Amino acid sequence: MTETSDAELTIDLGAVQGNYQILSGYLPAAELAAVVKADAYGLGMSRIAPALRHAGCKTFFVATCAEGIKLRAILNDADIHVFNGPLPGEEPDFTEARLVPVLNSLEQLAIWSAHCAGSETTCAADIQIDSGMTRLGLDMKDLARLESEPDLLAPIEVDVVLSHLACADQPEHPMNTQQLASFEAAGANIKGKRLSLASSSAIYLGPQYHFDLARAGAALYGVNPTPAKPNPMRQVIRIQGKILQVRSVDTPRSVGYGATHRATRPSKIATVAVGYADGYLRSLGNAGTAYIDSHEVAVVGRVSMDLTTLDVADVPDELLALGRPVDLVGPFNPVDRLARQAGTIGYEILTNIGRRYRRRYVGWEGMPEGTPEGMPE
Ligand SMILES: *Cc1c(COP(=O)(O)O)cnc(C)c1O
Repeated sequence: MTETSDAELTIDLGAVQGNYQILSGYLPAAELAAVVKADAYGLGMSRIAPALRHAGCKTFFVATCAEGIKLRAILNDADIHVFNGPLPGEEPDFTEARLVPVLNSLEQLAIWSAHCAGSETTCAADIQIDSGMTRLGLDMKDLARLESEPDLLAPIEVDVVLSHLACADQPEHPMNTQQLASFEAAGANIKGKRLSLASSSAIYLGPQYHFDLARAGAALYGVNPTPAKPNPMRQVIRIQGKILQVRSVDTPRSVGYGATHRATRPSKIATVAVGYADGYLRSLGNAGTAYIDSHEVAVVGRVSMDLTTLDVADVPDELLALGRPVDLVGPFNPVDRLARQAGTIGYEILTNIGRRYRRRYVGWEGMPEGTPEGMPE
């Protein structure tokens, strides 16, 4: 058993599938690939990937070769691409698991090309272009080199030519059109089967960003791809902690490590069995809010490893009994809101979700056999 707490993480697979349909609806002419790196953003690739496959998704992206091997064991018939591409020595693992590497540099291109030259079957790969992110991908100089030495690409069958936007969640940002222009210019010089530029947010920048294939991660998991507007996605997760104790507090008295909160009125403090070890970030101390039923309550004092304290002065006592649930993420406080309170983004909240939660997958019955209930991989 990996679950050691009574706090509960509910993951709505039906909502993930619904989000796949919502995003696909914005892409009448392009295919939608699902990004399931980092264990499907912390939500459990072994459950998320089959749910998405069932929703019609054929193409999946992961970050590393090891993630690709794991995904291949879950989905035998999917098209699996690996963003980070091969590190030296990993080439046979890619072939064995039928993974398509993204080649991000001339160095990676050279090792994959050498591997392919010795193989009998065709050898597919994607090529990433750095259109302005300065992180991964071939730059203009690399592309010129490819043009003058076409043999570098000879043994490789280029599938997706891709790039990634730095500011897609800010529709007015000038980087978007600049990157679009350099991607179009560079993409014209490499003969691949398909072009791909859009991640979740970029899908909402308009059809000129869609090309042949969009790659969505966060939006599938309920994070708002359009931060300045209401969230078009369905919420996917709910996190419920349980009340361990409620104390009446007379002033003056401090709460928690460092005595950072001082009660200034007679109050009630509830202690909930969730802490930063569960991914309830320490930065939520004196900053986060939670819900007990429909009552909003504030985190007071620091978040500790396994415990968090809430000011529940205005909550009726019958909602505060031992074991009563507290929504740390729920219908009234979605992931993006918690992220704002913590000074981060929804992506970081999701990928920090701890291993102790009792995990419940709901909303889709077609779960694969063999994964014990509640077991993250
Ligand atoms: C993670 C990632 C994505 C998915 O981004 P979201 O914003 O989560 O949709 C797409 N493309 C690349 C290259 C990525 O690294």
